[in-house]
Amino acid sequence: MDFRKLEEKLVAFRDARGWGKYHTPKNLAISAAVELGELLEHFQWESDEEILEAVKDPAKKEAVADEIADVVIYLTLLAHELGIDLDRAVGEKLEKNGRKYPLRT
Ligand SMILES: [Mg+2]
Repeated sequence: MDFRKLEEKLVAFRDARGWGKYHTPKNLAISAAVELGELLEHFQWESDEEILEAVKDPAKKEAVADEIADVVIYLTLLAHELGIDLDRAVGEKLEKNGRKYPLRT
């Protein structure tokens, strides 16, 4: 995983535009949730089969990808503002999940 490079890119992008003053933890958390809502709008009232069929259309797939990217962008910026190392956080959470849900043999 390499969230560090993504984080650096996003922070440089927003700092170049003077948006940092708006990027408080609360605002970023709300923005991530809003973007997740925008993603869910694409799925509202659709079955899983209908969603999988819909994303065969490149324009629909791009629209869904844009919303997923928006969520990732805001969560990455939120982690940055909170001083959370996403590479470490995700790696450690996977380890915790592995201990909580061990493989059955
Ligand atoms: Mg969006």
